[in-house]
Amino acid sequence: MKKFNINFICSCSWACLVPCYLFMTNDSAFAFKHLFVLCCIFILLNYTFALCLRWFEKNADRHYLMLSTVWIIFWFSLPCARYINNCIPILLSWFEKYKWGLLLLFSLFFLLTCILLLKKIQDKTINSILRFFNMTVVIVYVLIAIALIRTDRSNNETIIEIKNQKNCLPNIYHILLDEYTNENTLKKIEYDNSNFLKTLEKFGFLVFRSSCSNYFNTENSVASMLNMRYLMDNEEMCTHTLNVLIKKNKVFKIFLEYNYAVKVYAHSLPEDLYGNTTINPTLWSFIFTCFSGTPIKHQIENLFFKRFLECHISNIEMTLNTLIKAKDACGSTNNIFYAHILSPHAPRCWDSTGNLENDFTFKGFLNPIFALHFTEKDLHQYTNQVKEISKRISTFIQTILSQYNENDLKPIIILHGDHGFMNTCIDLDHPLVDADSVFGNLFAIYIPQEWQEDAKDLQFINLYRFIFNHLFRTNYPYLEQRQMYKGQPYVLAQ
Ligand SMILES: [Zn+2]
Repeated sequence: MKKFNINFICSCSWACLVPCYLFMTNDSAFAFKHLFVLCCIFILLNYTFALCLRWFEKNADRHYLMLSTVWIIFWFSLPCARYINNCIPILLSWFEKYKWGLLLLFSLFFLLTCILLLKKIQDKTINSILRFFNMTVVIVYVLIAIALIRTDRSNNETIIEIKNQKNCLPNIYHILLDEYTNENTLKKIEYDNSNFLKTLEKFGFLVFRSSCSNYFNTENSVASMLNMRYLMDNEEMCTHTLNVLIKKNKVFKIFLEYNYAVKVYAHSLPEDLYGNTTINPTLWSFIFTCFSGTPIKHQIENLFFKRFLECHISNIEMTLNTLIKAKDACGSTNNIFYAHILSPHAPRCWDSTGNLENDFTFKGFLNPIFALHFTEKDLHQYTNQVKEISKRISTFIQTILSQYNENDLKPIIILHGDHGFMNTCIDLDHPLVDADSVFGNLFAIYIPQEWQEDAKDLQFINLYRFIFNHLFRTNYPYLEQRQMYKGQPYVLAQ
């Protein structure tokens, strides 16, 4: 019998690292069978690569050491590159908390493996040192992950004092449409959104036509909105801090205190943004999520682009359908249904006729760190999404409102974008970018008649201060509305 190979186990652990991490941090999201299938695929790949390496090198230890290094580079190069480029790494936010220690370990590991391979040292001592090193790094990694998840869990178990036991309070539907900009900005790119906004007004919505978000990207905007304040300098650029701010946000805590049940739906966002969301994605969406933090994100999406777009559309529809059933499932009062829908945000899944987009331009090798700069064609692709999602939202709102009859307490509905559509450019000096297109957001609310007068001057930063002051009669002072860019107030171009 062959001797038990530690390096083989280690390389398999590295291969399955991100799927396991995603599974552990989103435990209600992904099915165990999905994790199992994905791990089998990665282990099989690992084994196949090792078999191929046999042509060049006989020593099995060396194969698996080399493969361990390859997997580490595969999972961590993009977060590292994004970090070095001073932009927020997606996905592996826990990487950020221990970045220096982990970077040092990885570099050392990489260097040692290179020396071993280049020099072709057949020295048993070096082999066993590396084997030991590989094992240690894996164990350190697993321990960090377990420690982080455990602190996350224990912090969640704080007992909340309920301030309002008896009162029936209205259900709240909070719908975040990622990247949905305001009317003026859409006008500038020759898209007339007035029909949709008029429909909302006909339903009884108050529409803030020139609203702007306070931040240009999702994490900052959501963290600020759900904590009812501007972010501090040290919070703005640290994904881990932002994630903690979002998961343990003040708004949900206040709702729980007032005897609300909080339900988060984010089918299209199985990343680690809200933590445990009520979602049930498919194996494909698990696969796309795993690859979304790697340098071959675009290649994988292009390779399976039809499935990728179908997956995206089905996630959007699943979210809306779950919300439609939410009243029956959870009751007609004291619930907040919070949904984050990744639309009109990329992937641009609908074409101008509302069918599946089939012009999926290859975006692979040029720039995996940033999205490519926008072109005229992208603008049309963007407005196609605005058109399609608006159509679905109109029908959705109509359905929701029809569920609440005369005797029911009417719900509150919040509909908004988290930022404008040029945010991925980051570079505000780009000729196609103006501040409105970076910060302009859709903002419309359906509230009780008697609040409407007060809501006339409502600014996006005060959304939940306003809601709480009216719903729970609290006294949160209102903040001055401004746009923040890299820790500084950004003055909107006129
Ligand atoms: Zn966003």
